[in-house]
Amino acid sequence: MTNTERAEIIKRKILVEDYVYDIIVPNERDYYSLHNPNFEVDHRFLCPVHDEDTPSARVFPESNSWSCFGCKAGGSTIDLHMLYQEKRSGEKPTLHETLKFLEDYFISGHKDTKQHPKMRTKTDAEKLNSNLDLAKVNKKLTLLETILQANNSSIRMEVQKEIYDKLDRVYTLLNKDLILVEDVNIIIKEIYGEVEKETINQR
Ligand SMILES: [Zn+2]
Repeated sequence: MTNTERAEIIKRKILVEDYVYDIIVPNERDYYSLHNPNFEVDHRFLCPVHDEDTPSARVFPESNSWSCFGCKAGGSTIDLHMLYQEKRSGEKPTLHETLKFLEDYFISGHKDTKQHPKMRTKTDAEKLNSNLDLAKVNKKLTLLETILQANNSSIRMEVQKEIYDKLDRVYTLLNKDLILVEDVNIIIKEIYGEVEKETINQR
């Protein structure tokens, strides 16, 4: 089997959630003690690549991927392993080492990878974002940008930057079918919350 084929199997079978639960959290007990991830109720988690107090990383179960809105890290379980191990040890594992570790631990090892009920293939994720949903969420994003511009003067520069970075990321993920409309809706709600907080503070 080629590395590409092995990587494809891993991307399909080894869930980002399972890597977080099984590898990252047990190794970073202190860091996760305040925000212990529970992906059943919240897709956000503390970024394993940069240090932070409030979670800005997020899993996307439908595409089995993750993304950090703070440091822009993200990708598959393979990327997660490489970036997390680099953060931990200062040295990025090679692709070969990464594939071997993930296969040994999650596929042939003691750990029986169950097919997660929520997990779907990327094609299904694409189908889930119907054209109608996309049109609706794009309308919401446009409205959000209009409101942002209108409130420009009362939102601090650094917060504006964060919000626009977040929006950029959403557009990129949306274009690559790596994010679900329902997740975009959650992010839009969060941004409205931030804008509201800012405008109240300025009064
Ligand atoms: Zn990050």
